[in-house]
Amino acid sequence: MNEKISFVKDIPEFGWVVGSGFYLQEVEKILFQREEELKNRLKETVMAVVATSIMIIFVILMGMFFISKKLRLMLQKYERNLLVNNRQIRSQKKVFQTLFEKSTDGILIMQEDVCVDCNEAIVKMFRAKSKNDLIGLTLQDISPEFQDDGENSAIKAKRTNQMAYARGVHKFEWIAKAFDEELFWISIVLTTIEMEDGTIQHYSIRNITARKRLELENERQREQLLHQIKHDTLTNLPNRVLLSDRLSQAIKKADRDKKIVAVLFVDIDKFKIINDTLGHESGDMVLVKIADRLRQNIRQTDTAARLSGDEFIVLIDGCEDVNSVILVVKKIISAFQEPFLIKNESLKVTTSMGISIYPNDGESAQKLLKNADIAMYKAKQEGKNRYKFFAQSMNDETVEHIEMEKNIILGLSRGEFLMYYQPQINIINGNIVGFEALIRWIHPEKGFIPPSYFIPIAEESDLIIDLGDWVLKEAMTQISKWYNMGLNPGKVAINFAGKQLESSGLFSLVEETLKSTQCKPEWIEIEIVERFIMKDVEKSIALLSSFRDLNIDISIDDFGTGYSSLAYLKHLPITKLKIDQSFVRNLSQSREDRAIAKTIIELGKGLGLKVLAEGVENEEEQSFLSYNGCELMQGYLFGKPLPADKAQEMLEAQ
Ligand code: C2E
Ligand code: MG
Ligand code: MG
Repeated sequence: MNEKISFVKDIPEFGWVVGSGFYLQEVEKILFQREEELKNRLKETVMAVVATSIMIIFVILMGMFFISKKLRLMLQKYERNLLVNNRQIRSQKKVFQTLFEKSTDGILIMQEDVCVDCNEAIVKMFRAKSKNDLIGLTLQDISPEFQDDGENSAIKAKRTNQMAYARGVHKFEWIAKAFDEELFWISIVLTTIEMEDGTIQHYSIRNITARKRLELENERQREQLLHQIKHDTLTNLPNRVLLSDRLSQAIKKADRDKKIVAVLFVDIDKFKIINDTLGHESGDMVLVKIADRLRQNIRQTDTAARLSGDEFIVLIDGCEDVNSVILVVKKIISAFQEPFLIKNESLKVTTSMGISIYPNDGESAQKLLKNADIAMYKAKQEGKNRYKFFAQSMNDETVEHIEMEKNIILGLSRGEFLMYYQPQINIINGNIVGFEALIRWIHPEKGFIPPSYFIPIAEESDLIIDLGDWVLKEAMTQISKWYNMGLNPGKVAINFAGKQLESSGLFSLVEETLKSTQCKPEWIEIEIVERFIMKDVEKSIALLSSFRDLNIDISIDDFGTGYSSLAYLKHLPITKLKIDQSFVRNLSQSREDRAIAKTIIELGKGLGLKVLAEGVENEEEQSFLSYNGCELMQGYLFGKPLPADKAQEMLEAQ
């Protein structure tokens, strides 16, 4: 049976009844189908879920696989790096160890100022047996008690450590003491390093003894040089540089203390003669001894200095008054009383001293020195072996003379001097029988300076000797030249000053110059002013005789002006008298001069001497003189003094 189920519905609005129905069997069929369908769908869904899960698990597994691989690689790399690093650290440690041990610089490690380690260089440097000798020692244990600045090593070490702590690094030089007690210089670079277990003091040490020695040597040389710049090499006294410095200081001090300063210009009398007779070596010995004596006779605070040659300065400062200066001066004078012993010879030396006082005689060092020089010059002029205080009145003339002396020295070195030659005539035949050699000075600024001006100044000092030496050489060279040219200049008269005669080396100088210029003695004549010969007749006779023995003629210049003792005249080994031009000049006006001229001519003839009249300017003078028997004449009438080439022309024309 096929059961049917029906559904009826009344719809009044429309007056309808609506019904529908189905058969149960069919419904069951449908339901079965539906169930089957659902089962199938569930199966499918489960299948899909399983597949998806498998997929996901697969993907996850794959991901994990890759990640783990990557991680493994990374780990491996990390492991390798670690290995390399370890090896590097080990090798670096070794390198550092080697560097530490083998470093040429010494390395000292200290903790709390005590050595805990050091390298081989330190062991070697300190000449220790092994490291153990050094470990446990402090810096002062390997140093002398004091450093070169006098500071105690322990105190200094502490101070340097503090500095290193404060700055991190401190560099310094140090005197160390090796185990064999030898001291040596080191340079230290001290570095403080903070570590976990405390502070380490790292000393990098280098032996600088060689460098230090060189430095010390350089320093010594520098000091020596500095000393040399300020001291005179011969006597080791301060020189002008140091003296000026001290004098300036003394002036300042005198201002502050209201005291006076004295400058003593000490000049050795006749030093040139000492030098010429005993030789330069002995001269130097004298200077050294003089320096010693000066040094010994002044206070430590005073200064004895050497300016040049035989010029010394004594600087006395902090004096109350002039009386105390005089005391020092007298002490110096008495110090010179005792003779000097030079090469077993006893030598008496005197000095001329000039004194200037600050503030009276000058406000500057230079002025004081200059005025002391002027005063000294005056002391010389007044006869030497004395002292003179500077006075303003000395100034003008003396300054000029000092200036002139300096100019003469300069002129000689610069070749400003010339020789002129004035002909001497025999009026019987008009021939030139000789020349008088006369010096000329052409100063680059002052122009022509007459000999009558500078010769007396040169004679006041010893400069005339230098000048005379030059004249001798120059004139003899010229005479030789003329004779060698076949000319006949006759005898050439050379003027000798008194000082030259007094200088003991004159005779040998003439001999030497004759030889060196190849001049024959008979070609020259020495002219000496009458008053010089008469100054010490006995001595003159001895000296002039030796010249005569050489066959050199000797003529008395300016005869009639020098109060010759006629008794002596006959003993003098002379060959000619020169009538002074002062008599010739006045022949026409003065009866007395005519008488004198006549007498001189007579006297000369009587003694068998030649007689020459000088300064003959006109015919009148010439005829008077020749009428009275004078044959030899010199003067403007026959020719003025001429330069060598002009004189030569005259000779050639003859
Ligand atoms: P002195 O030896 O009596 O020389 C003669 C001087 O008279 C020279 O002067 C000469 O130029 C000058 N005189 C010559 N003839 C005449 C004249 O007719 N009239 C006038 N008014 N004067 C005449 P100078 O050259 O000026 O020399 C002056 C003095 O200087 C010389 O006098 C001599 O004492 C000195 N003197 C010159 N040269 C030297 C030298 O080389 N050594 C030395 N020690 N003294 C010298
Ligand atoms: Mg003369
Ligand atoms: Mg004369």
